[in-house]
Amino acid sequence: MINSTMQDDFPLTITSILEHGTRVFGRSEVITWNGDGTSRRETYAEVGVNAKRLASALTTLGVEAGDRVATLCWNHQEHLEAYYAVPCMGAVLHTLNLRLPAAQLEHIINHAEDKVVIVDASLLPLLAPIASALKSVEAYVLIGSGDTSVLGDVPVHSYADLIASGSPEFVWPELDERSPASMCYTSGTTGDPKGVVYSHRSTYLHALATLATNVTGGTEADRVLVIVPMFHVNAWGIPFSSFLSGSTQLMPGPFLMPDKLVDFVEAEKATLLSAVPTIWAGILQLGEKRDIDLSSVRMGTSGGAAIPRSLLEAMQARHGVRIIQGWGMTETSPVGGMAHPPLEVERGTPEEFDWRLKAGRLVAGVQMRIVDDEGVEQPWDGESVGEIEVRGPWITGAYHLDSAPEKFHDGWLRTGDIGAIDDRGYFSISDRSKDVIKSGGEWISSVELENLLAGAPSVLEAAVIGIPDEKWTERPLACVVLKGDTTPEQLAEYMQGKVASWQIPENWSFVSEVPKTSVGKFDKKVLRARYAAGELDVTRTR
Ligand code: ADP
Repeated sequence: MINSTMQDDFPLTITSILEHGTRVFGRSEVITWNGDGTSRRETYAEVGVNAKRLASALTTLGVEAGDRVATLCWNHQEHLEAYYAVPCMGAVLHTLNLRLPAAQLEHIINHAEDKVVIVDASLLPLLAPIASALKSVEAYVLIGSGDTSVLGDVPVHSYADLIASGSPEFVWPELDERSPASMCYTSGTTGDPKGVVYSHRSTYLHALATLATNVTGGTEADRVLVIVPMFHVNAWGIPFSSFLSGSTQLMPGPFLMPDKLVDFVEAEKATLLSAVPTIWAGILQLGEKRDIDLSSVRMGTSGGAAIPRSLLEAMQARHGVRIIQGWGMTETSPVGGMAHPPLEVERGTPEEFDWRLKAGRLVAGVQMRIVDDEGVEQPWDGESVGEIEVRGPWITGAYHLDSAPEKFHDGWLRTGDIGAIDDRGYFSISDRSKDVIKSGGEWISSVELENLLAGAPSVLEAAVIGIPDEKWTERPLACVVLKGDTTPEQLAEYMQGKVASWQIPENWSFVSEVPKTSVGKFDKKVLRARYAAGELDVTRTR
């Protein structure tokens, strides 16, 4: 009998990430863009002090271990302070997606039972329609200033005042690495969103893994532009990995328009950009209108949706930016694969782009398998297609207060992505079994749109599918069977105010019937095939 002689009980916590970043890379900075050529700067050492001050003030507000503290914020230095303060004090950071429709925002705040909500003053209008329905919220913390009367009687504290009054001597508690650190809700495929809860351990291991050279290879020399929102899967883990690598973080605030982003890249010489394809497409288009200088960028990453080949090629040819595609989901922290091409493939060749169009090559730490309709595992031959299932230390094994057995298979997470994997771990995605549309990196529930349309007086039934879109990657197409007289414009008008306006379809097709499967469900495979074959008559409303 032999035992490990290592210190295996040393906890892998966000507190140790913070400590490393503040001590070893105390001079690295988080730089927040004001959108007008100016910026605010804070060193990692200062982030550490402010995180203690914030944690101390939140303790005074009654926040205890395990309590949920939500953020409704853009990417900026205060959000980064909360990213460390909340988990390191033993509470749970719940990042709220500011693009969610009001009803979903209300649902997830109540479902997570958020005790405190930290909110940007500019985002107060998002809380106005729902504040009276938020049962668990005992206090708001306001970043900036604004009209807080919309929040009702719940006490509102100024973030700046809390930082000023909080103690910089706050002592971080010792934490179990398996304790919850942060949470993020994913869109439910059939309705309510599901809460994914990351642990300290999962966050630590994911952050380490993403720094490998075959993922991003981040170092102290990097200046990472954090385009992916901090409310989206912890901004792909960048706020944490940067404290391990010493990379400077460039925070764009609300300035996500291509021209503002490029101004920021040029001013701060960003080296690493991570964004969804829609943002990359916007930057490319901007380059057709004005001179843009991306010469500081050593690498781009793209994920969240499939990137078109033309975009990969043009970004490289015109701007010298080599984009590597990654795959992941909220449930996978998110990084599961990165499509760095194999060693022997020459850079810049058409073959290289073939490889870079894979969704990814499996990242060390994550296991993957392809499973057919009967649950039978398929070979890694690059051809056998089935549902992608994953497991690993930063893959979710359950949802918050939602057993969702349909999402798991013998301990593996069912991703809802359909694809194949080859004998070197490169995988590609050919379809999605989950019934959602991904527009500009944000989900649209087709089921929600269908239910809404089915309630319109002139509609007999409606099926909604995602169709390719140059700007948004995917947009909804509503296939509607009528029982009365109406126009696409009137249907779009009918949906106004019932879902977020950006979710309303602009593509409409009136059909005589919606194809059904043997069990009577809408057969969207057939609809997608008809669309692809040009058999659907589509009207655009905008
Ligand atoms: P994220 O924040 O990474 O967008 P989500 O959970 O919102 O995470 O979405 C995950 C889903 O996005 C995946 O299951 C897949 O359908 C899609 N996706 C992510 N990356 C890619 C990719 N590189 N290619 C194709 N689809 C992708």
